Amino acid sequence: MRIGILSRNKNLYSTRRLIEAGEARGHEMHVLDPLRCYMNINAKEPEIHMRGKELPVFDAVIPRIGASITFYGTAVLRQFEMMGTYPLNESVAISRSRDKLRSLQLLSRKGIGLPVTGFASKPSDIPDLIDMVGGAPLVIKLLEGTQGIGVVLAETRKAAESVIEAFMGLNAHFMVQEYIKEAGGADLRCFVIGDKVIAAMKRQAKPGEFRSNLHRGGSATLVKLSPAERATAVKAAKTMGLNVAGVDILRSNHGPLVMEVNSSPGLEGIETATDKDVATQIISFIEKTAQLHKTRTKGRG
Ligand code: ADP
Repeated sequence: MRIGILSRNKNLYSTRRLIEAGEARGHEMHVLDPLRCYMNINAKEPEIHMRGKELPVFDAVIPRIGASITFYGTAVLRQFEMMGTYPLNESVAISRSRDKLRSLQLLSRKGIGLPVTGFASKPSDIPDLIDMVGGAPLVIKLLEGTQGIGVVLAETRKAAESVIEAFMGLNAHFMVQEYIKEAGGADLRCFVIGDKVIAAMKRQAKPGEFRSNLHRGGSATLVKLSPAERATAVKAAKTMGLNVAGVDILRSNHGPLVMEVNSSPGLEGIETATDKDVATQIISFIEKTAQLHKTRTKGRG
């Protein structure tokens, strides 16, 4: 198959591993920088061009679209879908998952366990908002944040009020969340492909930190999931409409709670921690499911 990887940099670990795995299985792998793709949007023959030339037909594309280029990147992916190329994850599902609040609303509709979460726009609603999530300590999250940046633990009600007022003053969108203390600064990253968790790791925050992101100095180890954790991760990915997803779960006293569903989960942390060849599993999933002109949306949505 001719497979495109929508990625800005062919030297990134995940991109490199997907090229290696695809080539090892006899596919023609191409890295396409989404920002270098431009589109001819017309009724008859949608086209994508790059550096003055029309791109050939691709059987499948693997979107690895960074959060900072979601808008342009999903437009390019949608164009591939319109041309009949199979997307590993569809553009609509990626857009859905990039909106943290919308994601939580969709997950809650399906009865998936979540930390109690509040959202408000007026300063006068702050006291009730804090009560709604059970008071301090609580977690305040900027909706635009990634890799743990913009996630704050407010230990006291006073601290929570100050941070919320500051965010409101800056017109930043944020949500307020119950702090899951018993998670002990750890979370689970469940790597879902299709209807299976194919690898999972436990990420532990460094001492004195509650955020377990590897970018924030957290460390990762192989973990065995409970059946409930597995089922929750698969259901969360399905709810978002993602074939491949990194589902982040907190272990709470009342079962697994989903924090986030990531549509471009990185391969480095999970392959290193679990010693599994995740890249090859992604390629073999594409081999099984990709059929030209068989995308579900054809760019609809
Ligand atoms: P990001 O998307 O920026 O990584 P997250 O929502 O995943 O932000 O939060 C970063 C980290 O902070 C998580 O991996 C987890 O360790 C910790 N964390 C986030 N929310 C909570 C919470 N409600 N209770 C306890 N820990 C949390």
